[in-house]
Amino acid sequence: MNSQERQEETAYDVAVIGAGTAGIPAAIAAAQGGARVLLVEKDSLIGGTLHVTGGHMAAAGTRRQSSRGIEDSVEQHLADIRRISQGTARDDLIQIQVANAADTVDWLDERGFAFAPETPRIVYGHEPYTVARTYYGKDEGQSILEVLRAELEKARESHDLTLWTSTPALEIRKDDTGRVCGVSVFKNGQEVDVDAPSVVIATGGFGADSELFEELEGAPLVSASGRAATGDGIHLGRAAGAGLQGQGTYLPTFGGLPDPKTPGRANWSDRQRLTSERPPLEIYVNTDGKRWVAEDEPSIDEKERALTTIPQRTFWTVFDDAMLEASTGALEMVVGCEPDQVRAMANNRVGVHRADDLSELAALAGIDPEGLVSTVARYNDQVARGVDEDFGRTHLPMPIEKGPYYAIRNHAITLVTFTGLDIDTDFTVRSAAGERIEGLYAVGEVIGAGATCGNSFCSGMLVTPALTFGRLLGERLSAGATASRSS
Ligand SMILES: Cc1cc2nc3c(=O)[nH]c(=O)nc-3n(C[C@H](O)[C@H](O)[C@H](O)COP(=O)(O)OP(=O)(O)OC[C@H]3O[C@@H](n4cnc5c(N)ncnc54)[C@H](O)[C@@H]3O)c2cc1C
Repeated sequence: MNSQERQEETAYDVAVIGAGTAGIPAAIAAAQGGARVLLVEKDSLIGGTLHVTGGHMAAAGTRRQSSRGIEDSVEQHLADIRRISQGTARDDLIQIQVANAADTVDWLDERGFAFAPETPRIVYGHEPYTVARTYYGKDEGQSILEVLRAELEKARESHDLTLWTSTPALEIRKDDTGRVCGVSVFKNGQEVDVDAPSVVIATGGFGADSELFEELEGAPLVSASGRAATGDGIHLGRAAGAGLQGQGTYLPTFGGLPDPKTPGRANWSDRQRLTSERPPLEIYVNTDGKRWVAEDEPSIDEKERALTTIPQRTFWTVFDDAMLEASTGALEMVVGCEPDQVRAMANNRVGVHRADDLSELAALAGIDPEGLVSTVARYNDQVARGVDEDFGRTHLPMPIEKGPYYAIRNHAITLVTFTGLDIDTDFTVRSAAGERIEGLYAVGEVIGAGATCGNSFCSGMLVTPALTFGRLLGERLSAGATASRSS
C-alpha cells in the first residue's frame, strides 16, 4: 500500500491517540507485532511532553548498571517506591513497571540513547532511591524523542503504521452493542470516523487546563506542565464511560518563580536550589510574613507537603545583600542566577523585589509588613542565640540585617497531574463501577501520576511507565490483532 492509500485508509486494528512518550512506543510495538496501526496526534509535531520533560527514567537491573558494577534488583526498586509513596501507589501497576523497566532502558540503550555520562545516579530532586538507578539523556527528554522518532520512522517504512499529525481525536466510537469500535478525528477540516477494535488513549495529563485541574485536583494551579497537557484524554475517556483513579493524591512540586510573561505559569528551571545542593541562607515567609518550614529541611517531600498548608501555596524567599553576595557559583539561591543577575531582575521581573527597608519590601511584594518585620527580628535573635525554636532549622549562619533587602516570590508548581483514567493490569480502561470497557486502553500520564507515584514523587516514575506500558500494550494488542486475523 502506498502512502497516499494509507492516508485514506480508515480501518485499523489499533488506533493510538497521542504521539508522545507513551503513544509512540505503543504504536511502534503494535506495528512491529503485525497490527495495522493508526497513530493520531493533534499537534503538528510528534513528541508531546518529551519536548520539555527532564526525561528521568528509573530501572533496576539494566545492562548499564551492570557495566558500572551497580548491584540492584526489582525487589529493591519496588521497596523504594513503596517507601517513598508510603504505599499509596497502585501496587499492581508498579510491579509491572519495575519488572519491565530494565527492558525499556536497555531498548533505548541498544538504539544509541545518548545517556548523560553521570547516569545512572541517585537524584535528590525527589526523595532519593537507595541505589543509583535514575537515567537521563544528555538532552533530557529530547534524547528519548530522538530514539523514538527514528524507530517510528523505521516502523512506518517497514510495517503497517500510519501517522496523522494535526489531527485531534474528538470522540471514542462505540457500536450498537456498546463495544468500542474506533475513534472519530478531525482531519483536514472534517470529521473522519476511524474503525478500530482497539483504541489507546495516550494523550498525557491536564496540567495546562486550569478548569479541569480545579475540578479534579482541587488546588490552585501554577502550571509548569507541557502545553500538550490539555486533558483531552480525560474528556474522551469520561464520555466513553471511564472512571477515575488517583483523586486526592495530588502533590505540587517545590517552588518555582512566576513566569515573567504568562500569568498562571511558572518556570520549572527557575527554582530554589535543594538543601542537598546548598544549605539556604535566606528565610521563607508566607503572605502573612511568617516562616512556615525549616528552610534547611533536607527532605524535599517534607517541604512540598508543608507548602500545601500555606495560603495560596505561595512563599517568598527573603534575604539581604550580604546573603545574596555569598550565594554564588554552586551556592546560587535560584538555579542559574548569579548575584548580579538577581540584582538586575529586582523590581524588573515579576515576583523579584528589592527595597532599602523591610516594610517597603513587604509592601512591594504583597507580604504583610508587620509580619515580615517581626519575623526577621525574631529570626535574627534566633541566629544570635544559635537556636531556631520555631522550626528547628540548624543552619543559621547569618542574620538578615542590612539593606538592600530582597524578596523573591515562589509558587507550588504543577508539572504533572495525579488523577487519571482508571485501568486494570492489562491497561483496559474501567468504568466508575470497575467494569472493563472492552477495546479501550490508556497509558501514560492520562492514567494519573497517582497510579505509579501515589501521593509522592518517585524518580522516573512517569516517563518510564509511559514508555514501558506503551510498549507492553502495543505488544499485547498486536498479538490479539494477528490472532483474530488468522482465526
Ligand atoms: C517540565 C517537566 C519535567 C518532567 N520531568 C520528568 C522526569 O524527569 N521524569 C519523569 O518520570 N517524569 C517527568 N515529567 C512527567 C513526564 O514527562 C510526563 O508525565 C510524560 O512525559 C507524559 O507522557 P504521555 O505520553 O502521557 O504524554 P505526552 O508525552 O504529553 O504525549 C501526549 C500526546 O498526546 C497528544 N494529544 C493530546 N490530546 C490529543 C487529542 N485529542 N488527539 C490527538 N492527540 C492528542 C499531545 O499533543 C501529545 O503529543 C516531567 C514533566 C514536566 C512538564
